Amino acid sequence: MELLSQAVQRLRPSATLAVTARAAELRAAGRDVIGLGAGEPDFDTPDHIKDAAIAAIRRGETKYTKVDGTPALKEAVIAKFRNENGLAYGPDEVIVSTGGKQVIFNALAASVDPGDEVIIPAPYWVSYPEIVAFAGGVPKIVATTIEDDFKLTPEALEAAITPKTKWLIFNSPSNPTGAAYTAEEMRALGAVLARHPHVYVLSDEIYEHLVYDDFAFVSFAAANPDLFDRVLTVNGVSKAYAMTGWRIGYAGGPKTLVRAMAKLQGQSTSNPCSIAQAAAVAALTGPQAFLADWRQTFSARRNLVVERLTAIPGITCRRPEGAFYVFPQVSALIGRKTPAGETLADDLMLARWLLEEAEVAVVPGTAFGARGYMRISYATATELLEDACRRMAEAIGGLQ
Ligand code: PLP
Repeated sequence: MELLSQAVQRLRPSATLAVTARAAELRAAGRDVIGLGAGEPDFDTPDHIKDAAIAAIRRGETKYTKVDGTPALKEAVIAKFRNENGLAYGPDEVIVSTGGKQVIFNALAASVDPGDEVIIPAPYWVSYPEIVAFAGGVPKIVATTIEDDFKLTPEALEAAITPKTKWLIFNSPSNPTGAAYTAEEMRALGAVLARHPHVYVLSDEIYEHLVYDDFAFVSFAAANPDLFDRVLTVNGVSKAYAMTGWRIGYAGGPKTLVRAMAKLQGQSTSNPCSIAQAAAVAALTGPQAFLADWRQTFSARRNLVVERLTAIPGITCRRPEGAFYVFPQVSALIGRKTPAGETLADDLMLARWLLEEAEVAVVPGTAFGARGYMRISYATATELLEDACRRMAEAIGGLQ
């Protein structure tokens, strides 16, 4: 008998982590690699948040907490949803988990039966289809392109819905494209969903605070109040507060689903780390002014990278509304020959070649279900971004 389950054999390792690992390998071998693969802010967690964690340790908050989160953190989450998003959730309608990733895993594992379909617009965050498939569901990938600003249209959504559709996974601002939907665009999708009462929406809003140029972020459930009972709103402290290592994510949604997610969590990881929960309370209830400074920094870097990439012949780059990624189209470079005589057959080869030749690590678009693109994270020091863009321009300039 096989040791490994079919479900785990279906699971593919994270392509983004693979790029980071290869870049680390080259760096360990003494090469001066600039990593633009990272999915986390390069800022440090603010001191008031660290201090809250240290105080929690000193107070002895080192024991099991309630499985779905401490009362203090759940209260902070409820207040956050109410004040920032205009969403009214009760204590039975919110849950805290070990990262947004666990929230999503729990939600899909608690609701998807074999054969259920989950609509995932591409380019997508790498984990969505993997988690759906692990749960036995069928990822129904709907492609979007740079021409549609990487946004799902109402027509494409309508065409993808079948009687078996359980979820639409909606991610705005998006990893990997940085695209963010306006309230009007969300309402147009909501109008389609209103005609299909069996479809739920998992709205992943983890990049909420990272939007630029006065873009107004609106929660999917707030844009579509009629759908409130069918939306799971997912968020977390990882990206907004530079807390990726602390592992705190949370969600608000229909009580039946949220209770089932808590039951599953109670039989797997139990409560998220007690100390990290105390830190997350400080993040959500403490000063927020530094977020504007971070946004400023990210926005300047985004402008720099978009400008430099656009100047490279063969690259088309959209200026995204949010997150800390750009997702340039590089299909015009596919098929070109390197100085060593190798033909770059696809974006995977292009990314590998850029790593070896320009010593710049980017993630190929294929990893996100979008051939002919690449993802560049600008959550890196400005000097390094400048250097990386110069190296890429030089290397690409040498292609035939
Ligand atoms: N959702 C999206 C779109 C992400 O990019 C990430 C992290 O990369 C997550 C969710 C999960 O973040 P975490 O588990 O750190 O909260």
